[in-house]
Amino acid sequence: MIPILDLKKQIAPIRAEIDEVIKKVIDNGNFVFGQEIREFEEELVKYSGAKYAVGVSNGTDAIKLSLVALGIKPGEGVLCPAFTYYASAGAIASMGAVPVFVDIEPDSYTISLEGIEKALKKKNKLKVKAIVPVHLYGQCADIDGVLKIAKKYKLKVVEDTAQAFGADYRGKKAGTFGDCGALSLFPGKNLGAFGDAGAILTNSQAVAERLKIFRNQGNKEKYYHLVIGYNNRLDTLQAAILKVKLKYLDGWNKRRQENAEYFNQQLEGLPIKTPFVPEYTTHIYHQYILRLNSSSQKLIEHLRAKGIDSRVYYPVSLHLQKCFKELGYKKGAFPESERACKETLAIPVYPDLTQEEKEHIVSSIREFLQ
Ligand SMILES: *Cc1c(COP(=O)(O)O)cnc(C)c1O
Repeated sequence: MIPILDLKKQIAPIRAEIDEVIKKVIDNGNFVFGQEIREFEEELVKYSGAKYAVGVSNGTDAIKLSLVALGIKPGEGVLCPAFTYYASAGAIASMGAVPVFVDIEPDSYTISLEGIEKALKKKNKLKVKAIVPVHLYGQCADIDGVLKIAKKYKLKVVEDTAQAFGADYRGKKAGTFGDCGALSLFPGKNLGAFGDAGAILTNSQAVAERLKIFRNQGNKEKYYHLVIGYNNRLDTLQAAILKVKLKYLDGWNKRRQENAEYFNQQLEGLPIKTPFVPEYTTHIYHQYILRLNSSSQKLIEHLRAKGIDSRVYYPVSLHLQKCFKELGYKKGAFPESERACKETLAIPVYPDLTQEEKEHIVSSIREFLQ
């Protein structure tokens, strides 16, 4: 089976380097807030160009802490796309705010600017105070467009950069445009830890300070608690591993891009849609998404029979998830999101795919289509 992702292959060539830093953390014994946290945060700043980086427990908490630190209150509305991973909206709901869903652009799968305006103009009892655009699959949402609307309506912006850390929007790194950029460093993300991890980028010193207080039980000085905070720290061990892996991120992303380029070329002219990349963004192919005119299920089954793992990210639009039932959205409310759930599939694109594997994937898709 060609899996959707093979982390063992990624880790093998850098194993000695990682074993070394793990040993160092164990020898030092500073498992919470060891020096590796600050070192990794400094590397994130250098890499991203953001002024500040704050390591946290995971990507979901990165979004939640960002909203809290930016002053979003329970009961206030936060816009986010209906078509994304659950956590984009789950993070909003988990701090008591209310997700306000918006449809996506059919070609890029990112939040629709028209949809945002529509949601804001709707007569609504909610005070909408923020927006969480999602850089889905590894390419950026139209962040200039989002920022323009945010300015007009005085909204805070938290970029969900879980899938796109390393992608550029008009030459600057994803996650550095909004008030905060939330990163997930979950093992399966392009930059992944050996367990849960996350980080937040910001250009505001005040926000960075608030984030550091909220991630650590609401205190700046131990046992003196200023606000109701959380235990959302990044582990020293994960920071040490991530600091090693960050050096390789651009190389891995480049290989994903080469794999994607190969698929694009080989599938050209066939009745299947390859990823559309708007001129303003690069794509780091966290996922390589194909789209059919009808359900993708038969192709997924065909690929499985050929020993290829492919998946639907995501099969149910968030406005139709049981957990958000009380928000009152109906089927048909966001047609593009609902259509994307049916018609898309992700095929393996990870950096260590071999030429034979890529050829097998392409010929299996061709066989299905012809
Ligand atoms: C992975 C992911 C998250 C959540 O990150 P965790 O580290 O798993 O909590 C949020 N949003 C998107 C779009 C993601 O892909």
